Amino acid sequence: MSFDISNIRKDFPILNQKIYNRPLVYFDNAATTQRPQQVIDALTRTYSEYYGNIHRAAHYLADKATMAYEETREKAQKLINAETREQIVFTKGATESINLVAYSYGEAFMQEGDEIIVSEMEHHSNIVPWQLMAQRKKARIVMLPMDDDGRLLIEQLDALITKRTRIIAVGHVSNVLGTINPVKEIIEKAHTRGVHVLIDGAQAVPHLQIDVQELDADFYAFSAHKMYGPNGVGVLYGKRELLEQMPPYQGGGEMISEVSFAGTSYNELPYKFEAGTPNISGVIAFGAAIDYLQNIGLETVSRVETEILKYATAELNKIQGMKIYGTQIKKSGVISFNVEGVHFFDLGTMLDKFGIAVRTGHHCADPLMDHFGIQGTVRVSFAFYNTKEEVDLFIEALKKVIQMF
Ligand code: PLP
Repeated sequence: MSFDISNIRKDFPILNQKIYNRPLVYFDNAATTQRPQQVIDALTRTYSEYYGNIHRAAHYLADKATMAYEETREKAQKLINAETREQIVFTKGATESINLVAYSYGEAFMQEGDEIIVSEMEHHSNIVPWQLMAQRKKARIVMLPMDDDGRLLIEQLDALITKRTRIIAVGHVSNVLGTINPVKEIIEKAHTRGVHVLIDGAQAVPHLQIDVQELDADFYAFSAHKMYGPNGVGVLYGKRELLEQMPPYQGGGEMISEVSFAGTSYNELPYKFEAGTPNISGVIAFGAAIDYLQNIGLETVSRVETEILKYATAELNKIQGMKIYGTQIKKSGVISFNVEGVHFFDLGTMLDKFGIAVRTGHHCADPLMDHFGIQGTVRVSFAFYNTKEEVDLFIEALKKVIQMF
């Protein structure tokens, strides 16, 4: 598909509106993206044409819903090049995917005194689940540090991995710095020492072509709402031999094979990890989001977003007192910054009045904030539907806001 920005923007009804009488500029895509009409239509179609509870049922509606739900599993499998559809587990988001692994992997493989390596730049959802697991299993968390440019010090990894290291948890792309981490290298280093790796791909799958087999990732987690799909839907990919050895994360309907008070046997993959009625319509509409992304093509997405990133970075750097956090060459479309003398919260609130939606605060990455000795930043994050003209509106508004202080 050729990339025609005006047609693309027509697909996103929410973008075509005025806020406070100014055109909306949506630069909060790392928090959540907006949905194209195709995804909205898929949701509506599900509820108006073929909604029923999936699996088990013998009637037409449930059957159609089951087929559409399972079709999304195949689309997700192809999107990240997973070996089989059974290795795609639907969750309610990257957070739940990581919690699932921290719990079930912990139960299967962690002993007292074992270690988990977690990077300093992680989102809280790739730190706290491991802390909970470490408390339960009396395990220890070891931090993989980064430098002031936002680069992980992977040369320290060989020394950080010990005989007790079982798993490394690391983000593919930082939600604060935009750094694209060398996850393939990390996985290679880990595997030579018999250590597993979970990649938090929440900020990567919407922007980069992911191939879990090429990466040789043991686990890969992501969320639909950051990739133009519904919220309340996520994916966990896992290596089959690991998922098979891991106990269920939650008990309930669907995840069982047989239940009696004498004992219960569990369903096969992926259903063992999908207890209860899932977000049926959300998963089905997620299929439409995957189609949408793939129609544009992730190479095009990356190219368009990188151009906007470069342009916005150059424009921001012209502003006096500007400090950008995360200056790696291999970077996704995220810029976190502060302006000397102005609180990030004031900047964000005032930018909103100019119609510019940005995020302010710690971005759920307190250890990263501690590294830089700051409380928070302003963050702008781009999607393929953003334009250089929007960057101009943002820069113009930012300059006006700064002058007010
Ligand atoms: N990991 C990263 C890097 C994120 O940016 C986020 C959300 O911002 C998450 C995990 C959590 O994703 P969710 O809230 O969709 O579960």
